[in-house]
Amino acid sequence: MVDEAALEQAARMIIEALGDDPTREGLVETPRRFAKMMSELMEGMSYTNHEIAQMHGKCFTSTSDGMVVEKDIPVFSFCEHHIALMYDMQVSVCYVPNGKVIGLSKIARIAEMCAKRLQLQERITQDIWDVLVEVLDTRDVAVFVRGKHSCMTARGIKKPEALTCTNVLGGRFRDDPLLRAEVRELM
Ligand SMILES: [Zn+2]
Repeated sequence: MVDEAALEQAARMIIEALGDDPTREGLVETPRRFAKMMSELMEGMSYTNHEIAQMHGKCFTSTSDGMVVEKDIPVFSFCEHHIALMYDMQVSVCYVPNGKVIGLSKIARIAEMCAKRLQLQERITQDIWDVLVEVLDTRDVAVFVRGKHSCMTARGIKKPEALTCTNVLGGRFRDDPLLRAEVRELM
């Protein structure tokens, strides 16, 4: 579990290190607010992928074998190299049911929980894929993530329009050229 007292103390130290006074009016409550905010934004740190699958993987029996696409689920995350915000992130998921389908809101919840960690966009993509493969009982899952990283856009090389795109294609999405082309078209 996230240690809010330690986060509060760390925020106070950062304020001091920046040369400001953590006791002045505008900042006095900031460490506590920061700790609460981080605790919420890092909710996924408290759970493994397997636990996320168990908590949010409720499925329903289905005989359909048509491709299911859930596009442009918005999520936020923080890059583990700078603890900088990754924003304008959108997760798109595609799968071919193997006897069951997952509730659409559950896909969003899984994406959100995988993102709410100190992350790399590549690993968010893989984590979502891993959880979905476990709950859907098939490797015919494709995950696409697009996002902007404030460590790229606001500092350093400052490329405000830089958009990072990652994907993980499994099963038939990787091996069947037709399905692969179809899913790429959809995304
Ligand atoms: Zn970064």
